[in-house]
Amino acid sequence: MPPLSGRQRRTSLHTARAVDRTRVLDTLVNNLEGMVYRCLDDTRWTMIFVSQGCTALTGHTPADILDNATLSWADITHPDDRPWVGDHIRQAVSEGRRFSLQYRILTRGGDLRWVIERGIAVPDEQGRMVIEGFIEDITARKVTLDALEHTELRYRHIFEYASEGIFQTTQDGHYLAANPALARLYGYASPHELMADLSDIESRLYIDPERRDVFRHIMETRGEVINFESEVRRRDGSRIWISENAHTVRDASGRFICYEGTVQDISERRHAEEHLRLLATVFSNSNEAIIVTDGANRIIATNQAFTKLTGYTQEEVAGRDPSMLSAGRTPRDVYREMWASLESTGAWQGELWDRRKSGEPYPKWLSISLVRDEHGQIQNYIGSFIDISELKASEERIRHLAHHDPLTNLPNRFSLNEKLEQAVGFCTRKGVQMALMLIDLDRFKAINDTLGHHVGDELLVQVAKRLSSTVRKSDIVARLGGDEFVVVLPGIDSPADAAHVADKIVQTVSAPYLVGGQEQRTSPSIGICIYPDDATEIGDLLKNADMAMYHAKAKGRGNYQFFTENMNAAIMRRIALESELRVGLERGQFALHYQPQQDLRNGRLVGVEALVRWQHPVRGLIPPAEFIPVAEETGIIDALGDWVLQEALRQLAEWRARGLTELRMSINLSTGQFLDKALPARVDALLARHGLAAGLIDLEVTESVSMASPDETIEVMRALTQRGLSLSIDDFGTGYSSLAYLKLFPIRTLKIDRSFVKDIETDPSDADICDVTVLLAHKLGLEVVAEGVETEAQLKFLRSIGCEKIQGYLISRPLPADQLEALLRQPAQPWSSGAVEIWLSH
Ligand code: C2E
Ligand code: CA
Ligand code: CA
Repeated sequence: MPPLSGRQRRTSLHTARAVDRTRVLDTLVNNLEGMVYRCLDDTRWTMIFVSQGCTALTGHTPADILDNATLSWADITHPDDRPWVGDHIRQAVSEGRRFSLQYRILTRGGDLRWVIERGIAVPDEQGRMVIEGFIEDITARKVTLDALEHTELRYRHIFEYASEGIFQTTQDGHYLAANPALARLYGYASPHELMADLSDIESRLYIDPERRDVFRHIMETRGEVINFESEVRRRDGSRIWISENAHTVRDASGRFICYEGTVQDISERRHAEEHLRLLATVFSNSNEAIIVTDGANRIIATNQAFTKLTGYTQEEVAGRDPSMLSAGRTPRDVYREMWASLESTGAWQGELWDRRKSGEPYPKWLSISLVRDEHGQIQNYIGSFIDISELKASEERIRHLAHHDPLTNLPNRFSLNEKLEQAVGFCTRKGVQMALMLIDLDRFKAINDTLGHHVGDELLVQVAKRLSSTVRKSDIVARLGGDEFVVVLPGIDSPADAAHVADKIVQTVSAPYLVGGQEQRTSPSIGICIYPDDATEIGDLLKNADMAMYHAKAKGRGNYQFFTENMNAAIMRRIALESELRVGLERGQFALHYQPQQDLRNGRLVGVEALVRWQHPVRGLIPPAEFIPVAEETGIIDALGDWVLQEALRQLAEWRARGLTELRMSINLSTGQFLDKALPARVDALLARHGLAAGLIDLEVTESVSMASPDETIEVMRALTQRGLSLSIDDFGTGYSSLAYLKLFPIRTLKIDRSFVKDIETDPSDADICDVTVLLAHKLGLEVVAEGVETEAQLKFLRSIGCEKIQGYLISRPLPADQLEALLRQPAQPWSSGAVEIWLSH
């Protein structure tokens, strides 16, 4: 039992209850880990009571310390700590307060121990100041505390130097702590500034008011870490996006302690994301189909336009090679070029043929670009494409338009050239010949001019169809323009093949046409040129065929001619002739000769036909057959015809003035003159000028011109006959006359063509034609003039069939005006009624 202090002893003696309490306290005090003590307030802390714990604490028994002059508590205290512990205690005692100190002691065995001493100075029973308190060993705890302090320091470093903002706040939005990174983030120079400035963080910092709801939610949590992103306002008003990881800190009883977390500036990432979102919008809303593949060219993404265009969903194509879309139509070279271009430039554009999911092939315009990573490795291919079938179709339409004649749908001049080039190449390779035919429609201009373009157009369409159906599919039929067509026969064995086809064309095209309910006729004049014999260049082939065609025209139309070298020369002459004609007209090299017509009923010379002559300064007298066709083709005929008209009327007026009053004048009209609306007025004017009656004039129009467009002819003829002029159909029997029209024409005379008269004696059918013509003419109330009568036998026959008038060398060749006048004035004319009698008597 440890000795009790005087006071304790006394108290315990007072009552049984008191004794009881003392025992309890004794037990308690002496069983504590640690030492209860009472010491003097002297410099050595002389102990006057210590509990049993003293032994465990110091290694000294209470007896060693109590009342021992040599061992005080000061001796046990570590010498290094003794001074400040002393200071501290003195201070606390003088201020009358409790003290609590941690310091080291040295045990009896020499060990160092950490202790904590809590004490207070109180007056004892005698009124002197003593110190009472409790000292316990905290060595074990101190080690842990040190470690803790060390750890805290480490965290302190992290806190100070972290790049993330770190904070603790109160529930109502005041900072308890903030690190420099957070201050920087929010635009403050130091955490201190930040904490001083920013209170009510929730509303000052976060821009989005909904943030507060998130906040409230976090406050309600039990401590889970919540992450959210928010836009915040910095000190200078600028805005940044932050990502915050935060949680509430609560104590064991769930009481809120603080709100803490970390903050990161994610503005850059947000912007990148926004950019990506924008790109994604573009990607999915693009009208162009887009495919993205990986470095191995496997599809990793497609957009809506892709699905719409191809019919494949993203799932159906993911992971596959885009070649799965191919229609297998694109030439291999295109793909080769594509990869080469991607390799060298990183991009390619071009046209490919793909197939939709439905199997339908379509052309697409594809742009590919290549995406490489920072090491130059191919990361992606990005392809965007559009369906260009529509475009191709309209391109094809345009191409067709550019290559075809819209009226007949035949290839036009442009595409003929292309086709000819191919054909020439083909023939050269195969070593075969080719025929090029140039076809011009006879009398087409007359039909077009008189009946109108719609009729002309329709006729051309029908001719085109007939031409196409006459030749083989592999042959070429093209329209050069106007009434000119080209037929090309590549790969013939000899020109005879071409002649055979040309024959067929003449027959087919010459057959009557039904246009607008009326029958129309035309015929082809065909010029043929053979490759490579006649020419090897396309231009020359066409030129030579053209020459041959003119030759066919000159040969009387409705036939074909092969090109020959002679033709070439003839054409050259023609070209020279054309310019000479103009000069001749200007210089008055033309003259009229007159051929008399005899009335067989009385033997009298009743009229003359004016026939134009060209007195060429070098070549002498040129017959009209040589220059009239050229004049007609070149338009010189208008001026020439008008000159003839003037001169004939002038001559007639002169003859009348000289007493030859019975004479009538026949004048030949060219096609152009006849159809010229100004002709009637022109004739009127000339008649008036020379004081001539219209009844003296006879205008001759060839059968083919009058029948080309009979309705129009009727109108023109009416305009002329209304003035009292007479009309004749010239060269009757050489064209195709429609009797129905002939009946309607207001004409006076049919002139039987001299080709029929010529063989009257030898060719029974010609004789028949003359016979029938005379019969017909009389039936229609017309008179007949037979042309080209050269023999008395012809005359006799004509007279026998009732022909009224004749014209021909038998009577006279065409003569200059003075000679003709002399002939007319000759008293004993061989063609006088007497002579006629003589002929009749044969
Ligand atoms: P055409 O109107 O049939 O003229 C008659 C042609 O027959 C004339 O030829 C004439 O010389 C020729 N002839 C007359 N009698 C005989 C004969 O007994 N035997 C032979 N073999 N021929 C005879 P020409 O003068 O050479 O005229 C040829 C054609 O030229 C004319 O044929 C006519 O179509 C045209 N022509 C002549 N002068 C003119 C003219 O002033 N204007 C127009 N537009 N054409 C004209
Ligand atoms: Ca005539
Ligand atoms: Ca004639």
